[in-house]
Amino acid sequence: MPKRSGILGMDIGGTRFRIGFVDQNGILSHYREERTQEFFKAGEDIFSVFAGLFQNYKKEFCEEIEIQALSVGLPSTIDRRRKVILQTPNIPLFPDNFAFTDQMQEKIGLPVFINRDVNNLLLYDMEQLGISEESSVSAIYFGTGVGNAVFLNGRILLGKNGVASELGHLPVLLNEKKCSCGNVGCLETIVSGIALQALQKEKFPNIRIDDIFIEEKDDPEVDLFVRNMAKVIATEENLFDPDYILLGGGLPMMSGFPKERLEKYAHEFTRKPYPEQNMEIVYSKMDQKNGVLGACLYGKKRLEDSSYL
Ligand SMILES: [Zn+2]
Repeated sequence: MPKRSGILGMDIGGTRFRIGFVDQNGILSHYREERTQEFFKAGEDIFSVFAGLFQNYKKEFCEEIEIQALSVGLPSTIDRRRKVILQTPNIPLFPDNFAFTDQMQEKIGLPVFINRDVNNLLLYDMEQLGISEESSVSAIYFGTGVGNAVFLNGRILLGKNGVASELGHLPVLLNEKKCSCGNVGCLETIVSGIALQALQKEKFPNIRIDDIFIEEKDDPEVDLFVRNMAKVIATEENLFDPDYILLGGGLPMMSGFPKERLEKYAHEFTRKPYPEQNMEIVYSKMDQKNGVLGACLYGKKRLEDSSYL
């Protein structure tokens, strides 16, 4: 049987680490999931960890697949040239200003691509939802923090330094809470999985966090949390007036989450008559594997077009 060629994708999160192979037809195989901390331990050389992972994977499946490139999604800010991992607050082991791709390419002898995880997610979500690359899309991923990615004029918006679309770190007036990025007052200190967990601990210690929207969605503070999420959506809608606002992340997927109410509030806070009148909210088909699929899709685009970042 001929080998299938394609891209090896890695999706590295603060707690979970995922790896898989996507062939030229977009089919995912040889997928696995591990705990990040078991791989990235203090004192170990990160390049050796990655290279070891890569070599073991290659060896194990060498009869079936041929890897053309490695594409890694990270919860990090990344420089505009997509070579340097600038900052990774949730994985303390990754140093700041970490020049990654050149050295990694040398180690494994294949092209290596890196991207913000949410940019990869947006690319994959667009493909899965059948949204054409002609469209403009603003994605908001309400997870542990607030992930954000913007697709404009056929490309992901990068910005001067490669760090555009940091909605979660927008400073919010009158907010003095400290954020994991080192600043004070960031939006995601109020609207995020972490913030919801803090609310649950303080106000509903006897309710499981997973049940908070089933049991308490009408509580004024839980309702305020949903209203605040809606303000985040309205902010993005007012800024970009995109063809689609794409929502994803763990929060909107929680059992009992009041999506209709969120959308009603989002309309309430968005500027009228436009962009409010024809605002189009769509939802990511969330799956644990999407990060790997997105990384591989991004890797494919990079291989096909050397000017693509
Ligand atoms: Zn911040």
